[in-house]
Amino acid sequence: MADFGGDTELEAFRAEARSWLEANFPASLKGKGALASAEVRSNEPDLVKWRKAIGEKGWGTPTWPTQYGGGGLSVAQARVLGQEMSRIGAFNPLMFGMGVTMIGPTILDYGTEAQKAEHLPRIVRGEVQWCVGYSEPNAGSDLASLQTRAVDAGDHWVINGQKTWTSGAQYSDWCGLLVRTDPQAKKHEGISFLLVNMKQPGIETRPIGLISGASPFCETFFTDAVAPKEALLGQLNVGWTVGKRLLQHERASQTGASMGGRPPAALNTIAKKYLGTDDKGRLADVDFRSRLVKHEMDAKAHALTLARAAAEAKGNNSPGNAPSVLKNSATWVAQTRAELTLELMGSQGLGWEGDAFNEHEIEAVRSWLWGKAMSIYGGSQEVQFNIVSKRILGLPDTTQSA
Ligand SMILES: Cc1cc2nc3c(=O)[nH]c(=O)nc-3n(C[C@H](O)[C@H](O)[C@H](O)COP(=O)(O)OP(=O)(O)OC[C@H]3O[C@@H](n4cnc5c(N)ncnc54)[C@H](O)[C@@H]3O)c2cc1C
Repeated sequence: MADFGGDTELEAFRAEARSWLEANFPASLKGKGALASAEVRSNEPDLVKWRKAIGEKGWGTPTWPTQYGGGGLSVAQARVLGQEMSRIGAFNPLMFGMGVTMIGPTILDYGTEAQKAEHLPRIVRGEVQWCVGYSEPNAGSDLASLQTRAVDAGDHWVINGQKTWTSGAQYSDWCGLLVRTDPQAKKHEGISFLLVNMKQPGIETRPIGLISGASPFCETFFTDAVAPKEALLGQLNVGWTVGKRLLQHERASQTGASMGGRPPAALNTIAKKYLGTDDKGRLADVDFRSRLVKHEMDAKAHALTLARAAAEAKGNNSPGNAPSVLKNSATWVAQTRAELTLELMGSQGLGWEGDAFNEHEIEAVRSWLWGKAMSIYGGSQEVQFNIVSKRILGLPDTTQSA
């Protein structure tokens, strides 16, 4: 990885990134970052073209090592690449895939050379979709209570059990699966992490229908499903450690305060439209104005803290426990913004569909509802508070493990 000490080198990289993006990012996709959402696996031709181009360049996974197809960029260069993308309304089409945000980084941390060579290049090129099989009907926050079993059958594992809330399982090729491999051991000590091929008869996915009509996640059933012995990521019965690392990577990817990848709306502009202005051009509603200012200050503080954490991390890719703080503050900013948006829209902020509401109003309602998930997925808000109190502040343990 190149060591970019000075601004000159970084500016040279900026020029390189700019010209590559200009040559490769399809203009028709400008500002359509929502297409990258994991919920929308669109096959729009320009998006397919863009996925291929960025995958081959390795810039969808900019800091991953070049030997696995990644961009090999420093954190500073990756930030410049992100800035250059934003400048022209481009986006990383791979950024929400669980292969990129969670599984790949965990394989980089714990994988054997063979596992890295098998899985990482396909994630880099966006050729495979991954899901994460952690939660079970009786194991959510208390994840270590999980009961899905993997039994050693000589040269392979036989897996039986049920997962739930498995995002995108119905579309996935592979699953990062937490299983119990030693039922006699203490609950945190008999767990292993397997890389499981989803395309086999022993795995059934049943999409869970939401009130909106969408089915973003599944109940996932394993009935004598199989995985080769080499599917074990990390050591046998030490899967809790591997699993926690994946969660840190997941939470690190959830620290931006946007809803499902959608860029936050410019609240001040919307507020002026709905509430009007006084003779000095300020928002007419004094109470709303002060709450909006407080929110903007919170959002700015979050963004600056995020930037500081990134700068302090430098080349260190291990996220640690800081994402638990940042995930909660990102959630606070995004959910407050959604509440304020609906409030200022008044009765226009109650629409789900129909001609009486414009697309921004409908989007605002859907974002507000979707945003409720932010304080649940990746470990609930309360669980993040527990992690902060225990692992960062060193306060006494809680009744359940986080
Ligand atoms: C949109 C979405 C996508 C998801 N995708 C996935 C996925 O891909 N794979 C996957 O495995 N899971 C996924 N999940 C599941 C998610 O990880 C769990 O919902 C989450 O961990 C909470 O578990 P639970 O739903 O069982 O709630 P519970 O654990 O039953 O918690 C219920 C309430 O009790 C509180 N609580 C529980 N224990 C404590 C405690 N010790 N201290 C304080 N409060 C506590 C919680 O904060 C929560 O408010 C997804 C969830 C959502 C909403």
